[in-house]
Amino acid sequence: MTTQTVPQVGHLIGGETPADNLRDVHDPGRLDEVVAQVAVGTAEDVDRAVRAAHAAFPGWRDTPAAERVQKLLAAADLLAGSGEELAPLLVREHGGVLWEAQTDFALGTGVLQHTSSLVEDFLRPVEFDDEQSFISVEKVPRGVAAAIVPWNMPVVLTMMKLAPALATGNTLVLKPSPFAPAALTLALQKIAAQLPSGVLNVVHGEGDVGAALCSHPLVRKVGFTGGTATAQKVIEATSGTIKNVTLELGGNDPAIVLDDADIDATLERMLKGVYTRTGQICFAVKRIYVPRGLYARFADAFCDRVNEYAVGHGLDPQASFGPLNNEAQFKKVTDLLDRTRNSSAQLIQLGRKLDPSSWDNGYYVLPHVVRDVEHTAPVSCEEQFGPIVPLIAYDDEEQVIGWANGSDYGLGSSVWTSDPDRGLSLARRIEAGSTFINTHSFESLDLRMPFGGIKSSGIGREFGTAGLNAYVEEHSIRRLK
Ligand code: NAD
Repeated sequence: MTTQTVPQVGHLIGGETPADNLRDVHDPGRLDEVVAQVAVGTAEDVDRAVRAAHAAFPGWRDTPAAERVQKLLAAADLLAGSGEELAPLLVREHGGVLWEAQTDFALGTGVLQHTSSLVEDFLRPVEFDDEQSFISVEKVPRGVAAAIVPWNMPVVLTMMKLAPALATGNTLVLKPSPFAPAALTLALQKIAAQLPSGVLNVVHGEGDVGAALCSHPLVRKVGFTGGTATAQKVIEATSGTIKNVTLELGGNDPAIVLDDADIDATLERMLKGVYTRTGQICFAVKRIYVPRGLYARFADAFCDRVNEYAVGHGLDPQASFGPLNNEAQFKKVTDLLDRTRNSSAQLIQLGRKLDPSSWDNGYYVLPHVVRDVEHTAPVSCEEQFGPIVPLIAYDDEEQVIGWANGSDYGLGSSVWTSDPDRGLSLARRIEAGSTFINTHSFESLDLRMPFGGIKSSGIGREFGTAGLNAYVEEHSIRRLK
């Protein structure tokens, strides 16, 4: 195993890239390979980065919005260009297949461009001028924003915070996940070089670095994407200094198939949202409800298609999907498989191993389908975050709506039907941040739709003007005549 030729990735603090205390990042599909060495930070690094961002704030805030937009559009071009070069490195850090890593860069670029296109109108003050007074309601940046992101789609999840933060005049300190820090940071280094020093900073590390950011008194906003249990710690850590917080958390998205759905057309689109990224997407389809009368046909057709998948390293062009990202995730998923195997449900392992000889050198799991399973089973109620999905039979719409809504989560959801009106009226009854009709995957996303969850799936929304709103305060000014 050699580490000599791998990228060494430091923090990014006030334009410097200190690279001390480096730690190896391993390929989750070839565990004996080191793909990068990345700095591990401390609370002192966080303090230096926050102070650099704080010092850069007045200058960036007072930069005309049109000029900020120009710089962010140039950053979007840089990000798109970096995608070509850095997507293979991202594959080797996070375990996805190449098109998934490329999609991450492409979605991130789109978020930067779309947010930039909105911000000048968004920041225009709302004014009232009458006999009594002149009122101006203005949107002002909060100050230093912190972004904390996970490993599954690190580029777009970062851009969902960076774009609205910087466009509205905040400065930023980002903490990437230790499980996918390198490709993201190498792209951000290029972007930061085009911005005034201190506007964009990065500190690497574990939960202690995230906690130090959350509790820092100069941080006025935290944009967090990750698990619900970590979010509880974020809320605790931010409570001492009363910060604004946006939380994008886990989900257990229901997909409700109606009795008039075309099975082939449904599977063609639905499967894009089940096993993509090895099931490690917050708004992946995680439980599928099928009318009892359609169940056997649907489940047979579902299994036939899933059986065509091949699992292997993300750089193998034949791989439908890659390994899980890390050991904890692997243990969690294999434990859920064991519990399901030992239950009354039918656990079916499908697909094939692309390279059986190196299977145990990565966190590989074949796709699984769970048939004849109760909606109360752990595999139906927990966020699996892996290539396993339950198919649950239901008897009528009231029952399935009750089941879909009877979850602590409420991120995405979908209805599958050949009747648009029926789909819309059922969609309106689902408790979730988003409901898609006849789609539930990356292709369902539209930047005009605010993205986020309810209940344990989060607080607040990202994308578009909803996302911009999270990074400004309203400042009301009134002059009496
Ligand atoms: P995680 O919660 O373990 O980690 C997320 C980030 O928080 C990482 O950078 C981590 O280092 C950091 N962190 C850990 N402890 C912290 C602390 N005490 N204070 C502050 N930061 C801390 O999540 P993960 O395993 O990286 O990602 C998987 C989870 O993320 C899943 O639950 C998934 O559903 C969720 N997710 C949600 C969305 C969404 O938009 N809703 C998108 C992607 C992933």
